[in-house]
Amino acid sequence: MDIAAERIERLHELARAAAADRDDDRARYYVRLARRVAERNRLTLPREFRRFTCDRCDAYLRPGTNARVRLQNGHVVITCDCGAHARYPYED
Ligand SMILES: [Zn+2]
Repeated sequence: MDIAAERIERLHELARAAAADRDDDRARYYVRLARRVAERNRLTLPREFRRFTCDRCDAYLRPGTNARVRLQNGHVVITCDCGAHARYPYED
């Protein structure tokens, strides 16, 4: 794993920890940093990162707190508090 990928992983952990502390602003800050590192290094963000972050407002999503999760026609639909929806194929 290269340094940029490690850095993204670290920022992901920090964002998750901030979200667990209900510090949404700090979580967003880490999410944005991670996106920037990925962009600058042309890396794809880890799937878990993409699933648990909002593309519109960069929130780190916590189902039941700032996001709702529904199953719909074989898809997982995650709705952020900002109103953005994300759909993913259902996988187990
Ligand atoms: Zn959002």
